[in-house]
Amino acid sequence: MSRTLLLHIDGKDVAASDGASFTVASPTTGETLYDVAHATPADVDTAVTAARTAFDDRRWRGIAPRERARVLNRAAALLADRIDAYARLETLQIGRPLREMRAQLARLPEWLEYFGAVAQTAEGTVPDFGAGHLNVVRRVPLGVAGLITPWNHPLLITMKKLSAALAAGNSLVIKPSELGPAVPLALVGLLEEAGVPPGVVNTVTGLGATTGRALSEHRGLAKLDITGGTETGRTVAANAGRSLIPVTAELGGKAPVLVFADADLDQAVAGALFASFIATGQTCVQGARILVQRSVHDEFTRRLVARTRALRLGDPLAADTQIGPLVSEAQRAKVADAVAKAQDQGARVLAGGRVPEGEAYSRGWFYEPTVVGDVTPAQDLWYEEVFGPLTLVVPFDDEADALRRANDAEFGLASSVWTCDIGTALRVSEGLDVGITWINDHHRIDPASPWGGSKDSGIGSENGLDAYHAYTRPKSVVINSSGQPFDWFATTEDLRYS
Ligand code: NDP
Repeated sequence: MSRTLLLHIDGKDVAASDGASFTVASPTTGETLYDVAHATPADVDTAVTAARTAFDDRRWRGIAPRERARVLNRAAALLADRIDAYARLETLQIGRPLREMRAQLARLPEWLEYFGAVAQTAEGTVPDFGAGHLNVVRRVPLGVAGLITPWNHPLLITMKKLSAALAAGNSLVIKPSELGPAVPLALVGLLEEAGVPPGVVNTVTGLGATTGRALSEHRGLAKLDITGGTETGRTVAANAGRSLIPVTAELGGKAPVLVFADADLDQAVAGALFASFIATGQTCVQGARILVQRSVHDEFTRRLVARTRALRLGDPLAADTQIGPLVSEAQRAKVADAVAKAQDQGARVLAGGRVPEGEAYSRGWFYEPTVVGDVTPAQDLWYEEVFGPLTLVVPFDDEADALRRANDAEFGLASSVWTCDIGTALRVSEGLDVGITWINDHHRIDPASPWGGSKDSGIGSENGLDAYHAYTRPKSVVINSSGQPFDWFATTEDLRYS
């Protein structure tokens, strides 16, 4: 039986003003899970107004950072107690294996703790202003931030944005993905339980084309922070740009995994598998292009193909499942179409490449983890983000060739380098035009470590001090400490004022 999810505005759960709703179905069984309120542009306006009132009356930003940090730490403790319940909800609505969701959510209290610590320790500056004046520069919150988030990590991505924004004292309106609204909504209730005043965090559920668009066009925002596809990012940033609203945008990727001949080959195969197929490949930093030095390419590929074929697909709630369904019918069709097009253009399927057969897979959006070879830059698969369990493996000759191929991409989000030679690791990481490079690892994330990309992968970054600063602006106070009288119009002498 489905549950009803409502908008959360000014501390209250409310239906959409026109009563409209949409449904969220399980990607594993097709069963309807939720009936979700579909916020109208008027509802978005009500939410932004509530957030602005909360900002103007200082009910959150007026609280000393030390006390704000205590509230965030209480929220972290509450969240730690609810990991199992939230992980189950995430698995039900997006189909990621429960083991993965538990591992991911168990880290999330760290974001509230980290940004609480940043709020307490952030300091202003006193730049030299010359004799006779003292310049005090503090960083102050921006106002109302609009957060638009995707479905692949519903709570992680909400948390990355929200913890920095709240720690800095902003008020928020969140638009979660239509496919994954349940846990972000639950988090807002938890934050209020921990002591975040009502009205500070508001959530408008709905579709991107209506609710998301209304939020990105709202002139009452002081910042817009989106994670999503690159085309969505362009649209949303253009809307915000018309109102001169600053944007942080975490967008698409096509991460290269570079395996050098001196790498520990078993570890590199395990790493490539992890890079490519965790979350059923539905991550922005998915290892989507595996580049292997020619002398070990065939052996690496043989091992990778064997391990890919052995991955266990199934019910994501089952303890031994390694690969769940894709999130939706559309997402599975995108993967199947990409495989068919790659084959038409000359690529060869080495593992997977099919919808699995059998009763266990008949109602969900399953697709076999897939490795393809013989891919060249003349094929669309080399450049296009597919966002599913599909990766390609190609050989390279030397460091220069590896870098040329890896950087031949419109995206610049992430990459990994597998080598036992520190010189190779450093030179190659220096040469990669991306925001994140892991050496002998992939997918690692920390609240203190910047997360963001170059080129079509976005603007700005999440995590770390930069993300906190991007939720603040400098406020400069210049104090005349000279004790000297000053009257510009009383004289014709040359006086200094600039
Ligand atoms: P989408 O771009 O489809 O959607 C992202 C969010 O934007 C959703 O909430 C969506 O609403 C909303 N949206 C869609 N259209 C508009 C619009 N016109 N105006 C305002 N809001 C809109 O991405 P997905 O949810 O499909 O997520 C996958 C994408 O996200 C991939 O490209 C992936 O690379 C990227 N991503 C990037 C990450 C990073 O850190 N760089 C991390 C994770 C994902 P709706 O509810 O209708 O979906």
